[in-house]
Amino acid sequence: MRLSYTAISAYERCPLSYRYRYIDGIEEEPSPHLSFGRSLHAALEWLYRRDVPVPPTLDELLEYLVSCWSSEGFADQEEEEAFLEHAREVLSCFYHVNMADFRLPVALEERFELDMGDYALSGVIDRMDRHSDGRYEIIDYKTNRRLPELSRLREDLQLPIYQLACREVWGITPSKLTFYYLLPNQRFSTRPLDGEGIARVRERIDRVAALISHGHFSPTPNRLCPWCSYRDICPEFGRDDGVEGYRSRLRALLRRRERLSELISELEAEMTSLGIAPEGDDGERDGAG
Ligand code: SF4
Repeated sequence: MRLSYTAISAYERCPLSYRYRYIDGIEEEPSPHLSFGRSLHAALEWLYRRDVPVPPTLDELLEYLVSCWSSEGFADQEEEEAFLEHAREVLSCFYHVNMADFRLPVALEERFELDMGDYALSGVIDRMDRHSDGRYEIIDYKTNRRLPELSRLREDLQLPIYQLACREVWGITPSKLTFYYLLPNQRFSTRPLDGEGIARVRERIDRVAALISHGHFSPTPNRLCPWCSYRDICPEFGRDDGVEGYRSRLRALLRRRERLSELISELEAEMTSLGIAPEGDDGERDGAG
């Protein structure tokens, strides 16, 4: 079994959504926020991936943002343009605050996979800096619109998992673990966990791994259900909401049908460009099976 921070959080929030995503392999719906976050991460990786400690200009960075921009999941061009403009503002602010003491990170988009016995724990560390006093800091970029409550941050597994990875991969214990919330340009830094804290994290992940391997995938309705990619196939979503629940499921199904029609059109256009005629009603389907 292969787990990551995202998979563990998905399971802890709702085991059924984990099953849909990681066992049944049903992709999440594309969304403006996913594309926005992915594009900002790509631009920041490019900003720091230099041969010498000299940053590109802001214009070059913004040009790169356009070239790596992900257009998936936007309702229309107007919405996409609004998100792109917002991404430009966020990056410009980041640039003005951080470029005065630009230095090359010691790790960037670093993939790891840890052998945890019954399962593997994998992930990607956005960035690790080595400061002038020799201490290390792990930085994870966040593109959430709202700042999380401190109590939620303290419970979050992501930075402790990265701390574990640093120890295993480089033999280093970072002295600072930071979530960098890009939209408000706000950092939240914590100290590394001690041995007891790490043991608790391991227990928590082991427990999730054991529940998954025993096939526990009950739906757990929660406040994020209305945005869940699987709400239209989930037996729990809208169950007790009467007419409103029915309407909501219907809207979700219609959105899904629209997206599937778009995908079919894109696929047929690609086939036509390759000189392959899309299969018609009188095609090979009759002989199938
Ligand atoms: S809609 Fe809610 S209960 Fe259903 S799979 Fe998604 S998160 Fe779980």
